[in-house]
Order: sequence, then C-alpha cells, then structure tokens
Amino acid sequence: MSEHFDLCVIGSGPAGEKGAAQAAYFGKKVCLVERTPRPGGAAVNTGTIPSKTLRETALYFSGLRQRGMYGIEYRVKADLTVGDFMYRERAVVESAWQHIEQNLARHGITRLQGRARFTDAGTLEVTRFKEPARTLTADVFLVATGAQPQHPAEIPFDGRIVVDSDDVLSLMAIPRRLVVIGGGVIGCEYAGTFAALGARVTLVNAKERLLMQLDADLSDALRQEMTRRLGVQVMLDTGVSGVLVENDVATVSLTDGRTVDADCVLYCAGREGNVAGLGLEAAGVRTNPRGFVQVDAHFRTHNPRIFAAGDVIGFPALASTAMEQARVAMCHAFDLKYKTAISNVLPYGVWSVPEVATVGLGEDDARGQGINVEIGKAWFRDNPRGQIIGDTEGFVKLVFRVSDQRIIGASVVGEGACELIHIPAAVIQLQGSLDYFIQCVFNHPTLSDAFKYAAYDGLQRLQRRVSAAMTARSHTPADTGTTPPTAPGTA
Ligand SMILES: Cc1cc2nc3c(=O)[nH]c(=O)nc-3n(C[C@H](O)[C@H](O)[C@H](O)COP(=O)(O)OP(=O)(O)OC[C@H]3O[C@@H](n4cnc5c(N)ncnc54)[C@H](O)[C@@H]3O)c2cc1C
Repeated sequence: MSEHFDLCVIGSGPAGEKGAAQAAYFGKKVCLVERTPRPGGAAVNTGTIPSKTLRETALYFSGLRQRGMYGIEYRVKADLTVGDFMYRERAVVESAWQHIEQNLARHGITRLQGRARFTDAGTLEVTRFKEPARTLTADVFLVATGAQPQHPAEIPFDGRIVVDSDDVLSLMAIPRRLVVIGGGVIGCEYAGTFAALGARVTLVNAKERLLMQLDADLSDALRQEMTRRLGVQVMLDTGVSGVLVENDVATVSLTDGRTVDADCVLYCAGREGNVAGLGLEAAGVRTNPRGFVQVDAHFRTHNPRIFAAGDVIGFPALASTAMEQARVAMCHAFDLKYKTAISNVLPYGVWSVPEVATVGLGEDDARGQGINVEIGKAWFRDNPRGQIIGDTEGFVKLVFRVSDQRIIGASVVGEGACELIHIPAAVIQLQGSLDYFIQCVFNHPTLSDAFKYAAYDGLQRLQRRVSAAMTARSHTPADTGTTPPTAPGTA
C-alpha cells in the first residue's frame, strides 16, 4: 500500500528543509525523507556550520585577531586536541538540529527516515535497515540530495591520513604538517583554519590563482595575507600526480616534479552530485557527467513533476542559494505566484583568513564584458575601526558604471567581509549609485564607513579620467565616454 502526498522531498539539507516548509506553509501535505538520523545535510553536519565554528574557535584560541596588537605573545596551547576545538561545534550543531526539527514540526511536515529511490516516474520507495520498504506517491517531488566530495583514483583516501572535507572534522589530532589540495572555497577556508590552529600548511592549487572566480587583486590579497599572517605555503599552477602513504607520512607528488611530505592530506578539489542509487533513470530525470541533475530556470527536471534544487544541481553550491532555489522551485511546482525567481544579486562569502566576499560583477568580468567601469577602493588601515581591531590589510572595493555611476559589483577583504558585503548588495539590488554612499551617514568608527571613502575614491578616479581626457583632447580630438563626477571627490 502506498501513501500519497502533495509533495515528497528527498533530503533535509537547506534545500530540502526550506522547499518542504515553503509548500507546507501554503497548505500542501508534505513528506520529507532523510537517510541519516539527523537533519541538516552537509550545511549542518559536515560543511558550512562545523567549518565556520571550527574557524571561529581556531581564531579565538590562537589569538590571531589580537596577535601583535597588545605586545603579548599568543600561541595555541600545545595540549589542545581536536575534541577541545569541537566542543563549541557540537553545541552549535545541536542547536541547528533542534531548530530544523522545530521548523518541520511547526509546518506539519511528515518525517521519514530512510533511503529514497524512484521506482518509476511518480513513485518513491523508502528503505530502512531491518524495516519493510515503504512506498510513497506524490503530485510533486523535490530532489534535494546534495553533493559529495569527489574521490579521484590517484588519491588513496583512508579517512585518517588522506582525508576529504567530510572526514577532516573527525581527525583525532591537529596535524603538524598539512597539505591541502584545492584552492577553491573549501581549500582556502580549511588552510586558514588549520594554520591558525598551529599546523604548518601547504596549499596546492592547479590554477594560477586562488579562488579563480574572484578579481585578481582579491585573490592576490588573500594569498599574500595567508602567507604573511599564517605562514601558509601557497603552491600555484601545479597539479597533484599522486599521494603515497608510508609509515604514517604522506608524500604528495606534484606535476611539476616537486614533492611535499605531510602528516595529513586534505583533498578538496571538487564535488559531485549525490545521485547514486536514487533511480533517476527510472523517473526520467537526466544528469550531467558529474552527476548534477539538469533543471530549467524553474528548477524543473526532464520529468515535469520532479524538481531539483541545491548542491545536486551544481553551481553555485551554497547553502544560501540552495534554500532560495528550493523555495522558488516549489512556487513554480504549485503555481504559488509568490517567489518566482532567485535574486540575481547573490552574495558570495569565503571564510578564509582573511575573509573575502563579493557581490555582483567583479571588475575583471565587467571589463571582460566590455562595460565601461571604474572602481573605488578604501583600505581598513585608513579607517579608525580597522586600526582599532588591527586589520590593516583589508579593503572594500566598489565597481560602478562610468555612464551613470550605478554600482554593479563590490567586494571586501578582511574582518567581517561576509557581513559587510550585504551593504553594497542592498545598494545593487535597489539600483543605487555611488551617491548612496556619498549621502549616507555611517556609524563611526565602523568598517562600513570604508564604503563612503571607496565612493569618494571612485569619484576621484573619474575626475582623473576627465582630466586625462581633457589633456588628450587638447592634443587630439577624442571622445572617451567619461562623464564628469556629480560630487566633489573629497574625503
Ligand atoms: C566544508 C564546507 C563548507 C561550506 N561552507 C559554506 C558556507 O560557508 N556558506 C554556504 O552558503 N555554503 C557552504 N557550503 C555548502 C553548503 O553546505 C551546501 O551548499 C548545502 O549544504 C547544500 O544544501 P542541499 O540541501 O542542497 O544539500 P545537503 O546539505 O548536502 O543535504 C542533502 C541531504 O540529502 C540526504 N540524502 C541524500 N541522498 C538521499 C537519499 N537517497 N534518500 C534520503 N536522503 C538522502 C543527505 O543525507 C543530506 O542530508 C559548504 C560546504 C562544505 C563541504
């Protein structure tokens, strides 16, 4: 006998939870299936929240934020174990579990623990150890099964010395020497956290820069700070040809012929869709070669009753977007006319040391698209709050269109970057210009105030363009397309 629902959701991560709640809020009868005993998916159990809590703990114990500021030497205490660092993580994760359980209960969502699999285009089978299988049918399905770390054949994962981003949280001790393979978000974050915990970290990246999706000045600033403040050795433009473990020491061979020895190797250079055993073929749902489910702009798969959201559909693979994708998907599935598209102003935060965040178009991308842009920059070293907290290398950067000074992108490097980025994000969303920052009053002393000075810097750069154009015009007639600034570029 089968049970019927308006919606069956597979997975209780950010996408599954929020998609289920969205439909239930509008009166739909919803069932959520999760294979593990605890809800929250990668965000709560192996990714976002644990890694951010561990980072915060590492910064606290290492005194990194205060290092050199008060004339007192800070060092991580030698006898601390990973367990000590995970104490806080347990408390935060438990609170997240409770919060999700309460949310699901408040929305009257039926919970089922078990592994779900499509047996045909409209039927799910849910199996659990030593229990009879259950059959569910529904008008709509939401696949929110997330992603998992990729395991290439040349990397001998053993969960102890060679680990992925899931295993790293169960390490028994902080490694003395750690090699992180992968200069993306996860690699940069863990390199910073473990270096703050006292490990000697080498970060290997096959690309020529860290975080290739960022403007070059941001990834350069990150690399320089990781090296200067944390002593991380960053090896760029070189791949890994193999890893050999002998007598508990891993030797990482690089494609340029060099080798690096380590007590632990953390591989985080790619993830793939979590679709094995889901029976997607039986349901007529198609995936790409990396196992990411193919969807249209409404998050509908090739089967019109089955939607997919979150990491299982690939980029950008963030908890923040996973939740919104699922809400939008459910609005389309049930024609709710509530939230029909995801905002195109997506903030992007990296909790490396230092933090890096961006929103909108980067300077490099904007210029690459042929948009006539200018930037405005302000450094935390010129900001009283930056001086007080000792962040002298951070900066904010605004990217704006020359024609009307509309802000089209922004980035922040340094303390609080992932929070600060929401200020320019709001300005971009509301189609504001440099003038917003010029007119706005910011609390003083704050890092936010740096945006005002970035705007003044932008005006001054425009002024210089106009002067240069006028000088050039006095020699040869030319039209540079620059408009004079509308406010004096003063600070
Ligand atoms: C180390 C790390 C750090 C990160 N940091 C950030 C960050 O700072 N900010 C950010 O926004 N994002 C971050 N992310 C990404 C974020 O964790 C993911 O984007 C987010 O968890 C995706 O949510 P999801 O619901 O799509 O999938 P998941 O959270 O992966 O949840 C999928 C769920 O589906 C369940 N499932 C799978 N298959 C089945 C099945 N057959 N039957 C039943 N249940 C099933 C799984 O058990 C899991 O609970 C990080 C990720 C990692 C790994």
